[in-house]
Amino acid sequence: MSSNQFDVVVIGAGPGGYIAAIRAAQLGKTVACIDAWQNGQGGPAPGGTCTNVGCIPSKALLQSSEHYEQANHHFAEHGIEVKGVSLKLDKMIGRKNSVVKQNNDGILYLFKKNKITFFHGKGAFAGQVDGGWAIKVSGTTEADIVGKHVVIATGSSARELPGLPFDEQQILSNDGALNIGAVPKKLGVIGAGVIGLEMGSVWRRLGAEVTVLEAMPEFLAAVDTQVAKEAHKIFTKQGLNIQMGVKLGEIKSTAKQVTVPYTDASGAEQKLVVDKLIVSIGRVPYTGGLNAEAVGLKLDERGFIVVDADCKTNLPNVWAVGDVVRGPMLAHKAEEEGVAVAERIGGQHGHVNFDTIPWVIYTSPEISWVGQTEQQLKASGRAYKAGSFPFLANGRARALGDTTGFVKILADATTDEVLGVHIIGPMASELIAEAVTIMEFRGAAEDIARICHAHPTLSESMKEAALAVDKRTLNF
Ligand code: FAD
Repeated sequence: MSSNQFDVVVIGAGPGGYIAAIRAAQLGKTVACIDAWQNGQGGPAPGGTCTNVGCIPSKALLQSSEHYEQANHHFAEHGIEVKGVSLKLDKMIGRKNSVVKQNNDGILYLFKKNKITFFHGKGAFAGQVDGGWAIKVSGTTEADIVGKHVVIATGSSARELPGLPFDEQQILSNDGALNIGAVPKKLGVIGAGVIGLEMGSVWRRLGAEVTVLEAMPEFLAAVDTQVAKEAHKIFTKQGLNIQMGVKLGEIKSTAKQVTVPYTDASGAEQKLVVDKLIVSIGRVPYTGGLNAEAVGLKLDERGFIVVDADCKTNLPNVWAVGDVVRGPMLAHKAEEEGVAVAERIGGQHGHVNFDTIPWVIYTSPEISWVGQTEQQLKASGRAYKAGSFPFLANGRARALGDTTGFVKILADATTDEVLGVHIIGPMASELIAEAVTIMEFRGAAEDIARICHAHPTLSESMKEAALAVDKRTLNF
């Protein structure tokens, strides 16, 4: 095989792409991965949206801003007096950037370790040739390569409001929202989804007056209603001004301020004037520069690459994974698809279970869930039992000083199989893993109830909620 020929060429080194590349290499394939992302110095920054302007930097800022909030408002409860707490925003953003860089460097190291050839540039289809697909790389590296198989993992980009392009100064996407130079006095957020709530929380904790405007009438409609109601109550108490059911008027932006006229849920005309506006109204699949049309790659009406259940596109030996195809736009979903595709290419039976993909909102308290909500079970007519346990009754949560929220388990009324688990509270992002494992094994609430959980841990709330399904909680 010549040096420009590979068994697998992966386009995009986000969580879908770089993980697909590693798994294919583990299975003995020759692999190239192409990614266009540049760091501040023009160098490669593999990791995609997730590493550069998504999961990782947002969690770094959520952690830093939570420390700031704790120091300002909660250390005193622990008998720790701190005076003169001050914010060095440039240092906080600098730390976030260095966390991102550690992840970029980690991926470059993993490419080397797995003997994956990395190309820094844009990859575009140049037609079908003997032995596979010709791919042209242009950018820092210029190359013409051939892949027997091609995995497209080009991800997504932030959706703009019509007529209001991101300038990343006043009108911010997730990218700008992670890099504001000074805490705005007033910040507007359009969209009360995961990203809007996480970014709104960061800047509220750092001192901004934050108003979130959402078109949908119901807060976090995809979340279990009981959890969504609790979250709305807590976020409002924390100071997020969340307006549901609004209709936006024409937004005007100047160098100093952004004016957002809107009709509120009662039909009254309102005007929000803010220093900066984050627009977080969803993301759109990204296929720009792939030359997809020329080779006949099929996209749907919303721009997603059309794939079957195995992530096969309409073109032979061309696969697509992650945000650029149907399904939840989550890093771990992209990773699972990347692994599954690499295994299918390697002659194995890759597998992704869409029913057990966990969801997390990294606000404080955190929110996580897997499986069906109570409203979904009701709508489907499935008979179920529910058991909840509040963190207020959990010893570790009391010791932590964080007793908000609860764990709720929904199980089949007859078989006791766990159908959904919903958590709002401390470390919900970590606690959900147990629920995912149980559901993956199609376990019952009774299984969780009979598993020994260390004391004192937050995870005991999972056990207690499982006991509650059978109306026999021990500590509540
Ligand atoms: P991406 O990560 O978008 O990567 C695609 C890569 O392909 C990019 O590097 C891009 O430059 C490159 N590319 C595109 N076209 C080409 C081309 N022609 N040639 C070469 N390279 C190309 N998900 C979670 O699971 N947990 C979270 O906590 C979370 N937080 C988030 C926070 C924010 C603010 C945002 C915006 C998203 C968050 N997400 C989170 C979503 C997550 O980032 C995405 O689901 C994930 O990154 C999708 O991975 P991907 O590999 O499909 O695409």
